[in-house]
Amino acid sequence: MSAKDLQEKLFMKPKNAYLRMEENEVEKVNSFSEDYKNYLNNGKTEREACLLAIKIAEENGFVPFDKNGSYKAGDRVYYNNRDKAVIFCVFGKKSVAEGVKIAAAHIDSPRIDLKPNPLYEDSEMAFFKTHYYGGIKKYQWTAIPLALHGVVVKKDGEKVTVNIGEDDADPKFVITDLLPHLAREQMKRTLNEGIQGEELNILIGSRPFKDDEASELVKLNVMQILNEKYGVIEEDFLSAELECVPAMKVCDIGLDRSLIGGYGHDDRVCAYPSLMAAVDCKEPEFTCLTVLTDKEETGSDGNTGLKSFYLPYFIADLARLAGVEAHDVLSKSECLSADVNAAFDPTFAGPFEKMNTSFINRGIVVTKYTGSGGKGGTSDASAEFVGKVRKTFDDAGVIWQMGELGKVDAGGGGTVAKYVANLDIDVIDVGVPVLSMHAPFEVISKVDVYMAYKAFSAFFNLKN
Ligand code: MN
Ligand code: MN
Repeated sequence: MSAKDLQEKLFMKPKNAYLRMEENEVEKVNSFSEDYKNYLNNGKTEREACLLAIKIAEENGFVPFDKNGSYKAGDRVYYNNRDKAVIFCVFGKKSVAEGVKIAAAHIDSPRIDLKPNPLYEDSEMAFFKTHYYGGIKKYQWTAIPLALHGVVVKKDGEKVTVNIGEDDADPKFVITDLLPHLAREQMKRTLNEGIQGEELNILIGSRPFKDDEASELVKLNVMQILNEKYGVIEEDFLSAELECVPAMKVCDIGLDRSLIGGYGHDDRVCAYPSLMAAVDCKEPEFTCLTVLTDKEETGSDGNTGLKSFYLPYFIADLARLAGVEAHDVLSKSECLSADVNAAFDPTFAGPFEKMNTSFINRGIVVTKYTGSGGKGGTSDASAEFVGKVRKTFDDAGVIWQMGELGKVDAGGGGTVAKYVANLDIDVIDVGVPVLSMHAPFEVISKVDVYMAYKAFSAFFNLKN
């Protein structure tokens, strides 16, 4: 046998998905991408992404879960956790005693939250004080148009939904930055300190209320506009969750339109495909759950994050309906932790290890373990479970690759995988490679998001 033939037989051959797909599959890639772009444009916060997912699910036959209901194979329910996290469930032919299949993605993304006392006037301009959410490079969030989303709960309990800056006709907001001409001192700061947390002040107005007597007339005018539009007073900010996100719309990137640029790919690029895998799952062998969770970007704490018990409680309810113990269901369950990984960026090749990193257009990336500093803080999937996932994806024609998050000592990061694994569930991370992750404008590949959908569908259709 020649060396070439032997290499053909023995060596791995990573290949761009476009060189492996038939033309009709490329068409599916493009139409799935259009639907995904729509989801991204309309679900820019955890609340919006949650409620939009529920709307899509309801249009496809999902109804609220009844703890005392009785369900048969093919029935579709959802559990809405405080409008910020949601579990979709398609009942399988087997009893849940055989375990359930879970795809878990997160729908919160890095952003700029308002402080509880946000509104002030300085030098005849009005601003919001903010507290950023998640891991951001702060300098990236200045001098770009921002939109304001969220809810305000008034003293009488009424909840007002706020959304300003998404409509083309809407005003936008902005965090100002210093001009380079006068930035000699600022430019000496490290990149990390280039813009500091307390400098992320959002400009929201400059026109004073017309009166010569009172002070803070710009703040007063802004407050009057908010009062007319939403019926709120300054004190109502105390019981509000207002979030600033980039006001830009999603768009194709590249002359070949192979990429999508936009805010919040991490992790809606996994949330949307896992939602659609549940929507398109008709009568699976095993009961299938898609979990869209909140608070991943701040460590999964809180009652809408995956450190909370809402997922095991839901599974306990399923177990009770089937007359079995919750832990028996959990121990036999399997999960794809659906989260993004860093795509190799040749401009910043330094922190990547090319043999074990993910590349744009090579399909979804399977990440055996995350964490940092010698596998600290990770669940690390077993060879057996990786083997099962590998076979599942290959059998279903899913184009996939294996990757780590950068070089061993370059940094690190985690996902929800370990919190699910701690419930005695087999878990592995599976997701879409992202360029410029956590920036206000992230980039992913159309073929990779489609392969995520195909991967979660293959997982939900498992027979064993
Ligand atoms: Mn993520
Ligand atoms: Mn993230």
